[in-house]
Amino acid sequence: MKLNNPYAHIGALSHSAKVRQFSQPQLLLWNSALAKTLGLNEDETTKAQLASGQSHSDAYALAYAGHQFGNYVPLLGDGRAHLLGAVTDSQGLSWDLQLKGSGATQFTRGGDGLCGIGPAVREFIMSEALAALKVPTTRCLSVTLSGETVMRQQPSAGAIVTRVASSHIRVGSFQFLAAQQDEQGLAQLVELTIKRHYPELAELNGDERLLALFGAVMDKQIELIVHWLRIGFIHGVMNTDNTLVSGETIDYGPCAMLNGFDFGRVFSSIDRTGRYAFGNQPQIASWNLARFAETLIDLFSLERDQAVAELTQVLGTFGDKFNAALKAMWLQKLGLLPEDGDAEALVDELLGMMQKQQLDYTNTFAALTDYSQQGTELPDHLVSALGDWLARWQAPVAGHKEQSVALMIAANPQVIPRNHRVEEVIADFERQGHSDKLAPLLAAIRNPYHLAPEHAYLQQPPEQGEDDSYQTFC
Ligand code: AMP
Ligand code: MG
Ligand code: MG
Repeated sequence: MKLNNPYAHIGALSHSAKVRQFSQPQLLLWNSALAKTLGLNEDETTKAQLASGQSHSDAYALAYAGHQFGNYVPLLGDGRAHLLGAVTDSQGLSWDLQLKGSGATQFTRGGDGLCGIGPAVREFIMSEALAALKVPTTRCLSVTLSGETVMRQQPSAGAIVTRVASSHIRVGSFQFLAAQQDEQGLAQLVELTIKRHYPELAELNGDERLLALFGAVMDKQIELIVHWLRIGFIHGVMNTDNTLVSGETIDYGPCAMLNGFDFGRVFSSIDRTGRYAFGNQPQIASWNLARFAETLIDLFSLERDQAVAELTQVLGTFGDKFNAALKAMWLQKLGLLPEDGDAEALVDELLGMMQKQQLDYTNTFAALTDYSQQGTELPDHLVSALGDWLARWQAPVAGHKEQSVALMIAANPQVIPRNHRVEEVIADFERQGHSDKLAPLLAAIRNPYHLAPEHAYLQQPPEQGEDDSYQTFC
């Protein structure tokens, strides 16, 4: 397979890095549907060799910087990942193939360069789930057992993930080049970003082009975060190095799904101040975009002050744009149209009741969808929790029932990758290297808007106490 390195000539971004030789790699999970869209050869030997990096071991590690929990770190980089290169699919689109857990690189710092089976399986499941939920995301092509043991809280089987991404251009990639004061490299990275993600901007020139790029990246971030809020996804580690300018979700380390509705919900064990809480994600996206804007200033022909003013003006529209997109999303989840009189008040009231009573986010909207669609009776606790709100909500909906139902079905998943179900599968893999529960979980989350009756067990939220004590780790 022919792979090219799109970052090869951009400043000090890309460095040759040899994939670690694993003595007995064993292919565990292979995403055949994804392989087909990429036009990959699915011969057993070929895929096993690709998934363990042995067929493309002359690979690359990318440098990047980043703000971690608000603190700037000038050099992070791929400390346990290798870029094999980019492949072009039948439609001419480029996809990065990257291994994670494939050994140390020059950026490894204190770590071991490896990945455990648990996080690898989590990334596979969660990225499949988000893709099926129609949320922009990097994908997993495979998970391979490396044959080695990694030391974590307990010893664990080592694994290698093959990640497919529309690129690995992070806000942190721009920050790295800006810190080097490498204007030429920055300009090249701007070119690559436009070529791969925003080709419609290619005709623009100069400052106009830079400003349009910033605006386009901002719009993609808004889209992404609104999707996260729509499905109840808490990323958990929205550092600038984990923010892709393509607007895809990346880094599934400490992510989790919301159960009881709560804007303040945090699951990550290291997020002690709630910086990356469910409802804080929009503010953080805006903060990360400000860090992105800073890297572009020196590329402008305008004087510095003026460039800052122009970028600030664009970033200043984030709040209004985000709120408009968010409002449209909530209306859709309730099958309401903007012209419905009380639409906004109905949304606010429902969210207030959900937050106060910690109603299950997914199941509440799924039940409202079924209720509207086929008159399915609501569970007793919802009837009493929502009171006369129900009739007030149904009044406008009755005027455009079909349209409402179509909107709701598209916005409200019937099933999400529940934290406790994902953990069950991970625990099986940790213990015995496989899980009978994986296939039914994948089958259900790959079709999240239409739950098959045999997968109804996946709708059960965890017990309250179990949810309260659930913690995730990077
Ligand atoms: P993350 O928190 O996953 O975004 O990772 C932040 C940084 O830590 C990146 O530069 C990673 O490459 C690095 N890193 C995380 N885990 C390891 C590990 N086990 N070995 C080496 N580097 C790591
Ligand atoms: Mg990361
Ligand atoms: Mg991570």
